[in-house]
Amino acid sequence: MTSFSLRQLKLRRGEEHREELGVELPAFEFGGQRYVPVPEKVPTEFVVTRANTGTVFSLAFRTRLHGPCYRCLGDAVLEVPIRVREYQATSPEDEELTTPYVEDNLLDVSAWARDAVALALPDKILCRPDCAGLCPECGKNLNDEPHVHDEEHADPRWAALESLKERL
Ligand SMILES: [Zn+2]
Ligand SMILES: [Zn+2]
Repeated sequence: MTSFSLRQLKLRRGEEHREELGVELPAFEFGGQRYVPVPEKVPTEFVVTRANTGTVFSLAFRTRLHGPCYRCLGDAVLEVPIRVREYQATSPEDEELTTPYVEDNLLDVSAWARDAVALALPDKILCRPDCAGLCPECGKNLNDEPHVHDEEHADPRWAALESLKERL
């Protein structure tokens, strides 16, 4: 996974360090399904700015997640644009002024990027917004084969009545 060492940075107040950082993203578990980021190592715009009382980190990238559609289980691709910031106070008095992603002068960029993507995910990942899903009756994909079942014959009470009529 990708981390960034803050030791090498010698920034004075107001200065910034900017680089294109390739960040490895792990696969996501979402709603019991697995979604794989493509490419696995995403190019990001990574900026570190030295402020008066601390350091500001910002990260921007776009990733595409590949996995099953929530409704039809067909292939779904979700484009996720990310733009996030974190702040680390130089001498933090309370925890709110520190980022959870910095430890021992190392910024865990992969963990940060992964959490940012997880927070940006929609309720459901679909192959397309109007995906018709699977037929609850026969399980066929309603996108490929739009159909409805004849409810009269599907209803078991009708079948019982039919067989009763036959016997009369
Ligand atoms: Zn679908
Ligand atoms: Zn059906």
